[in-house]
Parts: sequence; C-alpha cells; structure tokens
Amino acid sequence: MSARLLDGSGLAKEREGALAERVARLRARGIIPRLVVLLSEEGAYFRAKKRSGERVGIEVEPVRFPPPDRMKGTIERLVADPAVSGIMVEAPLPSGIDPSEIRGSIPAAKDVDCFGREGLGLLLAGGPVFPPATPAAVLALLDGYGIDLVGRDVVVVGRSLVVGRPLALLLLDRDATVTVCHSHTRELPSQTRRADIVCVAAGKPGLLTGEMVKPGAIVVDIGTNPTASGLVGDVDFESVEDVAGWISPVPGGVGPLTTTILLEHVVEAAERGGG
Ligand code: NAP
Repeated sequence: MSARLLDGSGLAKEREGALAERVARLRARGIIPRLVVLLSEEGAYFRAKKRSGERVGIEVEPVRFPPPDRMKGTIERLVADPAVSGIMVEAPLPSGIDPSEIRGSIPAAKDVDCFGREGLGLLLAGGPVFPPATPAAVLALLDGYGIDLVGRDVVVVGRSLVVGRPLALLLLDRDATVTVCHSHTRELPSQTRRADIVCVAAGKPGLLTGEMVKPGAIVVDIGTNPTASGLVGDVDFESVEDVAGWISPVPGGVGPLTTTILLEHVVEAAERGGG
C-alpha cells in the first residue's frame, strides 16, 4: 500500500487566488494589509512569508526584537499604529526577552498567530479569535481532502503553545477524540498505533515510523527540521507511506498552508478595520 499525499502546496495556491481578490478590494479602498513580524533575523521562514505576501499584495515587514527594556514600548507602538493590520512573533526569542510580557501586550484583534494571552484565552473559551496559523493549517489540510473528524481518534504528538496544545483544542471543537502525547508519554507507539489520525509536532526527525501507525491511518507531519540534506519532518516518510492511507509531505504539506492562513488572518484583521 502506498499512502496518498496531502498536498498542502496545491491547497495553498488555490486559497491564494481568493486572498489576492480580497486584498485588491481592500487596496481599492486605500487600505494596504500589513503584517509586522517581530524577529531576531530574516531567515527562511520570514522570506517565505514575504514572498507569499508579495504574490497577493500584502506588505510583510520585519522588526528586530529591541533590547528587553524597550520591548513593551515597541509592541505598544505597533498596536496603536493603524497602518499595522497584524503582528506576529517569530521564535526563537532572544535571551532576556520575557515572552509573558509580550503575551500580555498584543490584543487579539491584531494577534494573527495567537501568541498573546487574550488570543489564547479566547481560543480556550471559544471566542472570536485568529487561531495559531499552524494548527489551523492542519485542519485546513484535512478539510481540503474531505477528511471527517467527528468521533475519530486523533493522537497529537507535542504539546507546545504554538502547535500541539492549540491543535488539540481545535480538534476537540471539531468533535474528535483527542490524545496529546509528549516527551514523558510512556509507550508512544501504543498510543499512535490506535489512532485514526496522527499529527506529529515534536521537532524530532524520524520520530514516527511505519510500525507506529495503524494501516490506513492519516498522518500529518508538522515537523520542520533543517538538516544538511534539506528540510525534513518528524515522520519517517519511507516506512510510514507503506502503511498509512494518507500522509503529508515535508516540505509541501502543512508549511505552505500555514503561511497562507497567516496571511488570511492579516487580511481579515485589515477588513475588520485593524489597519
Ligand atoms: P517545541 O516547543 O520544541 O515542542 C515539542 C513538543 O514535542 C514538546 O511538547 C515535547 O514534549 C514533544 N516531544 C519532543 N520529543 C518527543 C518525543 N520523543 N516523544 C514525544 N513527544 C516529544 O516545538 P514546536 O514549536 O511545537 O514545533 C514542533 C515542530 O513543528 C518543529 O519541528 C517545528 O519546526 C515545527 N513547526 C512547524 C510549523 C509549520 O508551519 N509547519 C510551525 C511551527 C512549528 P515536552 O513538552 O514534554 O517537552
């Protein structure tokens, strides 16, 4: 058996067309959607956002993390600036910067990747919120292939605030039965082997192998690990594709959809009048 591919690049391209039309309507009203990315350096992830933004007409602007004592003021200025539609914080944060201070400063209306406390709280409480782009991309990928989540056993490997935890919440909201695994989970293979859907976000290349997957299961690889031979996921693609029914590749799976969904959030923020 050879698993079918969950092609995130193709879905992202389709969504980009609709996004470009929304941006054109905003620009016709004199509104330019703008995303500010707080970052340490302009690496590959920033450049991917910038390129996607250029394709659809969204400005993507880098802002370097300032010294810790100027962090709060920097965010307050961005929040107050009507030309800034959305703000995102790109990991890793420099040492000395307290993430909880940033979390307390970004209001949900401009928090397009759900980094702030207000956004995360609303996510838990079911309020109007931009969910974090990566977990939202996982759902968009499954939805894009008509994969029903109701009552399915889903195992999420990883419990970070940016991926694993919010993904578990979003899956619960869609009536899946969710198990969250992490580095202290005993017998990870026995958890993953009983799942209809396995989503892996551990940052460990090759963590999920074929013998850890139920025949016909759906496997979503969220990991992005740079190696000497290029970007690899957390799934051992070769062994898993022989067992799974569906598998998302790295690159070309969750990653491109994450970027598109982030930009969709920026446009929605601009449409609501955030910028
Ligand atoms: P993270 O903050 O390092 O969290 C990793 C999680 O995996 C932790 O919860 C950790 O458990 C768990 N874990 C680590 N080793 C494990 C093991 N052997 N067995 C079971 N669980 C294990 O990483 P992250 O920010 O969530 O990112 C995870 C991966 O997704 C990375 O490769 C990252 O680059 C990628 N990512 C991709 C996108 C995208 O757009 N595709 C976006 C964001 C992140 P503990 O909590 O117990 O430590």
